[in-house]
Amino acid sequence: MIQTIYHVCGHNTTLNMGLSSRQNRIKRAEDMGKSICPPCEIEEMRLFSIRNNLPFLTGSEKQIKWALKIRHIKLTGKYKDFWDKSIAECKFWIDNRNKFKQPLT
Ligand SMILES: [Zn+2]
Repeated sequence: MIQTIYHVCGHNTTLNMGLSSRQNRIKRAEDMGKSICPPCEIEEMRLFSIRNNLPFLTGSEKQIKWALKIRHIKLTGKYKDFWDKSIAECKFWIDNRNKFKQPLT
């Protein structure tokens, strides 16, 4: 079953929630709606990178999307001063994603 998710940023996305019950679909859609939509999330991480003079990440498109998220979490977290902000290789951020792990938002 396709469920529409109304995000706090004002955008809607849809998600195929399979055969889960109506109640579960609504609950999950509400929870997901508390966050901004994926394109806004990427935009926010790009702006964060620009504001903090972070280098453009190097890697495949898929790696960049993933590494942007990991870097954003690491550089806004409790251990943000540990990380070398000049590292541009996606592989570094992906390989170190579990170091000083913090709960994902
Ligand atoms: Zn959005």
